[in-house]
This record gives sequence, structure tokens and C-alpha cells, in this order.
Amino acid sequence: MNKKILIVPGDGIGPEVTAVGKKVLDKIAEKFGHQFSYDEALIGHVAIEATGLPLPDETLTKMKASDAVLFGAVGHPKYDNDPSAKVRPEQGLLKMRKELGLYANLRPIKLFDELLDASSIKPEILKGADILFFRELTGDIYFGDKGRKNDGDTAYDVAEYSRYEVERIARKAFDAARTRNKKVCSVDKANVLETSRLWREVVQKIALEYPDVEIEHQFVDATAMLLIKDPKRFDVVVTANLFGDILTDEASQIAGSMGMLASASIGDGTGVYEPIHGSAHDITGKGVANPLASVLSAALLLDISFGLKAESEAVINAVDLVLKAGFRTRDIADASTPANMILGTEAMGAEVLSRI
Ligand code: NAD
Repeated sequence: MNKKILIVPGDGIGPEVTAVGKKVLDKIAEKFGHQFSYDEALIGHVAIEATGLPLPDETLTKMKASDAVLFGAVGHPKYDNDPSAKVRPEQGLLKMRKELGLYANLRPIKLFDELLDASSIKPEILKGADILFFRELTGDIYFGDKGRKNDGDTAYDVAEYSRYEVERIARKAFDAARTRNKKVCSVDKANVLETSRLWREVVQKIALEYPDVEIEHQFVDATAMLLIKDPKRFDVVVTANLFGDILTDEASQIAGSMGMLASASIGDGTGVYEPIHGSAHDITGKGVANPLASVLSAALLLDISFGLKAESEAVINAVDLVLKAGFRTRDIADASTPANMILGTEAMGAEVLSRI
């Protein structure tokens, strides 16, 4: 298979972890006989420094011309401490999602058995949990009308969803459920919100097209509770932008560490694959960042954008074997981890590569 992959490392630890993700793609190409060609582009703080813009046109053009994007992270302390800054790294991220029409954010939440103790949830509740979140990414309260009323003391953000927006993400979720345990949980707040009532009506209609998939509807408050109480009950979860933002961060704790979780943002064109963590400036340049979220993002890219299931499995299995062998990065090590088993970013990458 011939594919063009754009590497967009971004800021902070982005370049360190993305370099490992790229090596994994290279290894897969070599082992399975594919030809992957690469280009690189700027986003975030590094793009602002170089061009004045968080998402330069050149980056966007390269993204659109690629088959998939492997993304690092954006963000810099300079902007975190200055909420009034007019040009900000995160604007690059939002513009990218809008321009590429990335309306579905997928986040697999699956704990490697070796890391059961790294989670704050009891192992017996957690073992076997395997959830795939679909968070809607381009609608809701984030993109509706917002502002201050005349006196400046009242603010508003309008939540909006169209039938079409709900339909397209619901279909993605049902399609994915067919390849898994055939269960979809649609999360809303239909007892209170009109957007949620439309959401539920549309999901119920789409569910009729998938009689082989079981559908349940849950309120977002109940879901927040059930994720901690009984995460194993979920298979595919589909929800709106704001609810998804909060629930996926909650669910990330099931997996123990931010350094382990990958995500995919997809629409009808180029898909973008990235760790869920940010630019982590507290550890940038120290060579200690956990590269496994970027490695698992590469696995998602192979599966979702290229349909290369066996290749994707090979990457996930390699990560599993590395953890089984006892290797850890600092963030997933505990008091019982021997010092010589705690690896830096590159060494952890090398252990994964040798097991593909
Ligand atoms: P963060 O994810 O960067 O870091 C949170 C904590 O987790 C830090 O202590 C960090 O050291 C640790 N951590 C994160 N990734 C790790 C890894 N791979 N290995 C080991 N430890 C890891 O979140 P934050 O500190 O809230 O934000 C830092 C910057 O990142 C901010 O500017 C924020 O806006 C940005 N951010 C960007 C994205 C993105 O690009 N998608 C997401 C979240 C935050």
C-alpha cells in the first residue's frame, strides 16, 4: 500500500513522542511491505513563532493532500498565563478541525492488564473494560452564538445541533459497534435540553437501520456515575461535544495515565491521530515523556484511515509485550518498578520497535 502521512509534531513533548510514532509506522511499512512517504508541517506555538499564525496555510494544504496526519500536541506556558493573548496555539487546533471537517473524535479506553494497578479504580471493577467513545466535535455550545449582554454582567453560550450533525456521528458509532460488541450507549440530557431531545430522536431513528446493534440511552449525569461504578457495561458511547469533552477525560482515568491514551479525529477527508495529552512543558526536553500514546495513535491511524487491521494489532501487541516484560516510563512506574526498568522516551520506543 502507498500512503502519504503528514507528521505535525507541534509543541512541547509533541516532537519527542511523535518521532517514536513515526518510527513505528516505518517499522510496520518495512515488516508488511508498504510504502509510506512523509512530510512535516508546523502548528501551534512553533508555527506562531515562525509565521505569526497557529495554523499556517501551508500546513493546511499539506494536511488536505495527505492520507492521514500524525499529530503531537499544541500549547505553551506563555499563553496559559496570558488569557488575553489574541493569537493562541489552540486556535490552530480548532481551525484544523473545522477546515478538515473533523466531526467525530474517537477515543478508545482500554487498560492494558499490566497497568491495572496504575488506575485509581479497583482492578476487579476495571479488568476487561473496553470502551470506544465517539464525541461530536464541530457543534454544540462550543460553536453557537456567545457573548455578554449590555450590562456586561450576564453571559451566554448557545448550544445548537442540526439533525444532519447528529445523524452522521450516530452512523459512525453504530458502524463501529458492528465491529465490536454490538452495543451503543447514546448519552444526552433529554429530560432538560431541547438539543438533547433532537439528539435522542435522531439516534432512535438511526438505530432502526442497525437492528443487530443494541441501543440504550443514558443521561449524562448517570453516565458519569456508571463509568466509575461499572465501566465494563459500556461498548460504544456516542455523545455531544460538551458531554464528550468531560466524560472522555473522566474515562481516561480508567486507563491510569494520560501518556497511554490515543485519539482519532475523523470526518469525510483526512483523519488526524494524536495522543490525548498536551504539550507537557514540565517534562519537555528531558527525554522522559511516555511515547506510547503516540505509538497507539499510529496504531489507530493504520486501522481507521488505512484499514490495516493486522498492522494495527501488531503495534498494540508490541506495546502489550513491552509492558508484560516489565518496562515502564516514569509516569506509569510505581514503587515496585526496578530502576533499570524505567526507560526514557527513546529507549521505550526501541523496546516497542524490537517487538513489532
Ligand atoms: P498535559 O497533558 O500537557 O500535562 C498534564 C500532566 O501529565 C503533566 O504533569 C505532564 O507532565 C503529564 N504528561 C502528559 N503527557 C505525558 C506523557 N506523554 N508522558 C509523561 N507524562 C505526561 O496537560 P496540561 O499541563 O494541562 O497542559 C499543557 C499544555 O498543553 C497547555 O498549553 C494546554 O493548553 C495544552 N494542551 C494541548 C492539548 C492538545 O494539543 N490536544 C491537549 C491538552 C492540553
